[in-house]
Amino acid sequence: MTSVRLAVLPGDGIGPEVVPAAVEVARRALDSHGVTLETVDVPFGASAIESHGAPVPESTLDALADIDLWLVGPHDSASYPPAFRHPAPGAVMRKQFDLFANLRPARAIPGVHATAADIDLLIVRENSEGLYADRNMAVGSGEFMPTPDVALSVGLITRAATERIAVEAFEAARRRRGHVTVVHKANVLRLTTGLFRDVCLQVATRYPDVTVDTEHVDAMAALLVRRPADFDVVVTENLFGDILSDLAAELSGSLGLAASLNSSADRAMAQAVHGAAPDIAGRDVANPVATIGSVSMLLRWEGERSGSESLTAAADSIDGAVAHVLADGVATADLGGSASTSAFTAAVLAAM
Ligand code: ATP
Ligand code: MG
Repeated sequence: MTSVRLAVLPGDGIGPEVVPAAVEVARRALDSHGVTLETVDVPFGASAIESHGAPVPESTLDALADIDLWLVGPHDSASYPPAFRHPAPGAVMRKQFDLFANLRPARAIPGVHATAADIDLLIVRENSEGLYADRNMAVGSGEFMPTPDVALSVGLITRAATERIAVEAFEAARRRRGHVTVVHKANVLRLTTGLFRDVCLQVATRYPDVTVDTEHVDAMAALLVRRPADFDVVVTENLFGDILSDLAAELSGSLGLAASLNSSADRAMAQAVHGAAPDIAGRDVANPVATIGSVSMLLRWEGERSGSESLTAAADSIDGAVAHVLADGVATADLGGSASTSAFTAAVLAAM
């Protein structure tokens, strides 16, 4: 592969700081493996409301339809004028392009203080349905109020969506340490999360080389703190996956380290786990590692899909450079250091 086309959507808050940092790092890594990075700026978030009258304008959806790989910053929809707050921009994009798989690794990095020094797991979060009602394609908004004093939320679990996320999880386990934990709450949410668990266990029979166990989500929260090293791949529905991945990210050191990839069969979106962090935006102090790690996941995904070893090598060199810089003690404020976003990024570029 000689060139990669990447849609770049910086978004809100710290997005315009960390997204360009990740683009620079990706460009350098690809360059050094003989691949040219072509970026396409696509309007998104608060700036798109000003320029195009919507956080995700039609023109953005049209542009994304033509590009397989995207790097997307966080959105701060709480700060938008009320008419633009719902649906959330990320949800619009995930729904439009059926980005059903959300991969969220959490791994302790030498040189970074981690509550769980031996954590190294991958959360595989179903991203198209589940208990997050706004993502439930089949039932519209999924939340409603029959009277002003009663609010209801619909959870949706389907065999088809569970099966495809389970396949992602078992395939990922084959590339890792060969173990999957299915997280559910089938003692209470018997039909919905019970179906999720059962379908995952059915898929498990097609992967005799992968071991599998199941946990209730509440027990899982406790076990992640008690014995994090026991988990390899964790597969779960949307809401549980969102909560557990914030927990896993903090156990590994900081939310500012947590990378994430959203994918369908034919496209992928890199987007850090963290939000827009308006409390630190515009001060050049945000940790760019989560976004840099997300773009590395994106290149790795495309490398595997297209069989391009140069993309996989570029991802390896990004991860290696970040690990090297962190091990050297260069750290942003969230990790207890004093490096600015730009100084950290410069150190990563130098390490490559
Ligand atoms: P969302 O609802 O979009 O997930 P959130 O309410 O969970 O957002 P975040 O924006 O993720 O909140 O921020 C949570 C805390 O973590 C804030 O104090 C923020 O400053 C900090 N934080 C998040 N991302 C980073 C980062 N990349 N570097 C440093 N600190 C960060
Ligand atoms: Mg959050």
